[in-house]
Amino acid sequence: MVTTDLDRTLIFSPRATAQLGGALPRSVVEALDGRVISEMADVVRDELAQLARLPAATLTIVPTTTRTVRQVQRIDLPFTPRFLIASSGGVVLEDGRVDQVWAATTTHRLRECAPVAEVRALLDALVTEGTALRVHTADDQFCYAIVDPDRFTADHVDELASALVPGSWRVAHQGSKVYVLPDALHKAHAIGYVRARLTDELGEVPTLLAAGDTWLDAEMLELADSGWVPAGSEITRSGAPPWPQVTVTDAPGHAGAAEIVRAWVGQVSGTTTTAGRRA
Ligand SMILES: [Mg+2]
Repeated sequence: MVTTDLDRTLIFSPRATAQLGGALPRSVVEALDGRVISEMADVVRDELAQLARLPAATLTIVPTTTRTVRQVQRIDLPFTPRFLIASSGGVVLEDGRVDQVWAATTTHRLRECAPVAEVRALLDALVTEGTALRVHTADDQFCYAIVDPDRFTADHVDELASALVPGSWRVAHQGSKVYVLPDALHKAHAIGYVRARLTDELGEVPTLLAAGDTWLDAEMLELADSGWVPAGSEITRSGAPPWPQVTVTDAPGHAGAAEIVRAWVGQVSGTTTTAGRRA
């Protein structure tokens, strides 16, 4: 079982590619209002398509993202995943339909955290005072604010976090986006659910391979039997990842994504891979 983040792990905006490097021949996989939002390296696309053709008993690839269902369905993936995890674990799609068992579990967990409307009000106040540009509520489960990355400082993050922690919410600042998520939402929770479903079908617990670039991927990487983090990503900025089973790629950007997918090919074909170095 492979659970993989998408943005800045397998797909990159032209701006991210300019920042990170690692450019490879690539194709547009997401456009909005005529603007290119995301691209995927052609080699990554081809190898993912090939991996997705393997029988389910060999491999299941589960895209695992903080994007909402609507945002993730905009991406032209090279395969149709059976399972897809959206909204940072708040939603599990199976064959494109919302898994109702998981939806009920999430609703139950969310009751332990402060209501989304309370948090939204806090963020709306940031817009009023000019600290944030816009605020969105995603799937009625979490919020994110659009900020000027040059003006939204670590002090702003700390201030917001201290207002949120008592309500069991947390903050993740990534460039122009500030994600504010309830503790009930974690990619790893939803991965545990999908992995249990696969375990029932296969009669054994599938090995978990995972890849991600930010601290929103941390619990997923920690849970994985083997994990990959792209060079130059948020996680690597504070040094080596704190999990011994997690490898940092040699190259950043699309070239890093290619290393990661090649490592998965190596794992399923039982060969060792030299992609990346041990963290
Ligand atoms: Mg990402």
